[in-house]
Amino acid sequence: MKIVMKFGGTSVADIDKIKNVANIIANQHQTADVVVVVSAMGKTTNALTSLAHQITDKPNLRELDALLSTGENTSVALLAMALNAIGCSARSYNAWQMGIWTDDNFGDAKIKYITAPIWHDWSKGIIPVVTGFQGITYNQDITTLGREGSDTSAVAIAAAIGADYCDIYTDVDGVYDADPNVIKDAKKLDFVSYDDMLKMANNGAKVLHPRSVMTAQKHNIPVRVRGTFTPNDIGTLVACVRQK
Ligand code: ASP
Ligand code: MG
Repeated sequence: MKIVMKFGGTSVADIDKIKNVANIIANQHQTADVVVVVSAMGKTTNALTSLAHQITDKPNLRELDALLSTGENTSVALLAMALNAIGCSARSYNAWQMGIWTDDNFGDAKIKYITAPIWHDWSKGIIPVVTGFQGITYNQDITTLGREGSDTSAVAIAAAIGADYCDIYTDVDGVYDADPNVIKDAKKLDFVSYDDMLKMANNGAKVLHPRSVMTAQKHNIPVRVRGTFTPNDIGTLVACVRQK
C-alpha cells in the first residue's frame, strides 16, 4: 500500500501539533509506504504576504514566490526532525529536490511533471517529507501553486507515484453536506464523487483546492479527507465510484 499523507497549516500550527502529526505518520507507516506533504505552519503564508506588502503594493511576483515558499521549508524540516525524534527515519525535501516542475506563472503555477525520487528513501525505510505549494521552473525559479495549493501538490505526487490513496488531513473530519460552522445539523458524507466535490470546491468549500480535485479525477486517485485530530476516523472518500 502506498499512501500520500498531506497535512494543512492548522495541523502543523505549533510544535505540539507537529509532534501529533509525527505520531499519525508513524502509525500509518507501520502498514504502508508513505510520502508526507506539508503546508506552512498556521498563518505563516499570510504573515509573509503582509511583510511583502509592507514594502510595496505590487511585489515582484518572482520574489513573492521566493518569499512565500519559505513557510513550507520550515515545516518540512521541523516535521522530519519530529519523526526522527520518535524513531522514524525521515528526510525533508523542497520542490527543487523533489523535482516538482511547473510553468513560470508565478503565484498560480501549474505542475508540468514530477520526478519524485522517493524509491531510494523507501528502500531504506525512510519517510520523505515534501513541501506543498512550491514548484520549480525549467529556469530554476521557485514558484507557488496559488493559495491552498498544497492539496494539489499532494495529489500530483500521488499520481506520479501511483499511490493507492491521497489522504488530506485537515481540521475538520471530512466533507459535509453543508458548512458545519454555519448549519448545525450538517451531515458528514462517507463518499463524494469527483464531480460533486469539484462543484463544492468551486462554490467555495474550502476543504479541497479545486485543482487538486481535477488532478485526482484525471489520474483516478482516491482522495480521503480526514481529521488530524480524529486520525482513527476514515473521513470522506472522494473518488469516481463508491468503493467497498
Ligand atoms: N501555505 C499555503 C497557503 O497558506 C499553501 C497551503 O496551505 O496549501 O495558502
Ligand atoms: Mg487547505
